[in-house]
Amino acid sequence: MKMEREVVGVAPAAPFDPQIAREDFPILRERVNGKPLVYLDNAASTQKPCAVIETLTQFYRHDYANVHRGVHALSQRATERYEGARETVRRFLNAPSADEIVFLRGTTEAINLVAQSFARPRLRRGDNVVITALEHHSNIVPWQLVCATLGVELRVVPVNDAGELNLEGYELMVGRRTKLVALTHVSNAIGTVTPLRGMIALAHERGVPVLVDGAQAVSHLPVDVTELDCDFYAFSGHKVFGPTGIGALYAKARHLAAMPPWQCGGDMIRTVAFGHTEFADAPAKFEAGTPNIAGAIGLAAALEYVEAAGLQAIAAHEARLLDYVTRRLSAIHGLRILGTAAAKAGIVSFTMQGMHPHDIGTILDAGGVAIRAGHHCAMPLMQRYGIAGTARASFALYNTTADIDALVAGIEEAKRLFR
Ligand code: PLP
Repeated sequence: MKMEREVVGVAPAAPFDPQIAREDFPILRERVNGKPLVYLDNAASTQKPCAVIETLTQFYRHDYANVHRGVHALSQRATERYEGARETVRRFLNAPSADEIVFLRGTTEAINLVAQSFARPRLRRGDNVVITALEHHSNIVPWQLVCATLGVELRVVPVNDAGELNLEGYELMVGRRTKLVALTHVSNAIGTVTPLRGMIALAHERGVPVLVDGAQAVSHLPVDVTELDCDFYAFSGHKVFGPTGIGALYAKARHLAAMPPWQCGGDMIRTVAFGHTEFADAPAKFEAGTPNIAGAIGLAAALEYVEAAGLQAIAAHEARLLDYVTRRLSAIHGLRILGTAAAKAGIVSFTMQGMHPHDIGTILDAGGVAIRAGHHCAMPLMQRYGIAGTARASFALYNTTADIDALVAGIEEAKRLFR
């Protein structure tokens, strides 16, 4: 099978005005070190709009109770809102059914659930799991753990200097004994958007299910799990303007039906006797104990906020920001951009000659500019490029070219101080 490189299609969208979006995020009016906050650490976590903050407050003030258990009015209201949030996630991902949406703590917990409940029972000595060199530790270590205990090989698709996956290598790696492919949608460290459609189609031709780590995709790109035909799609609420401690896993119904529960307790059973327990169907089977009720409702508010802004419009806005930042940074002597893939989301990673990324981050912070410095939980990718870490600026819908100008001014200041 010939796999074409996918160019990220950003359809022409209605012009997006980040200044209007900024009004929705009260934290952006903060001053840091006496300077207006310039928040460019969105890949680590995004800020929260009033719609989310007020939804959480309103829920705790008016509707809060435990879910699924009470006959009283508040419990019913809370249950309706919690299950309504599941339907919002379904719509956001275009999943066929809300029963295919499991609420979890986030991407990390979702991947661990698939590793332990889906992969572990299917893996035999001599099998392999395929991941890529772009992965966050969350999509490496859970596989290492199951592979190491079962004598299973972990295969890693390499990247070229630009940060693009070697698709020929991938074709060779997915073989008769491959039991799962797990790959990121967008690299958190260098911004590469992976050519998911072709990679999923190839795996499926060979009968191999695919998990997608969508942690960095959902706030930047429209995601349609039905069109992608992935088997699993994981994301975290806090990276898409929602609360921390909540995320979701989409999984095809037949996989969820075949997977044993991973954690057990209240709310995930049909009947319990000391001799035997009958489990509830998915998704309840994977949501043992009292869930993060307010988190799920806050997440739904965040997704509705993003839907109203329009992901095509957000993607087009961020593509303009990426273009601008790439041009501005490329003009700085001694600065090296890591990751120059043709398809990139709003993340730019860079190093400066003679400067540690932490020094860049600290000097920028003094000017109110928040970026990330370090290995970005992608140490193997850093090793691939022979470096310990980078400085990373990552964008969201509320960022502007003025934010990028502040970033560039901060880098120039850092250069001056290190001269
Ligand atoms: N995968 C990617 C690509 C990420 O960027 C992150 C977080 O940075 C994660 C997984 C883990 O997400 P969480 O910590 O929300 O579970």
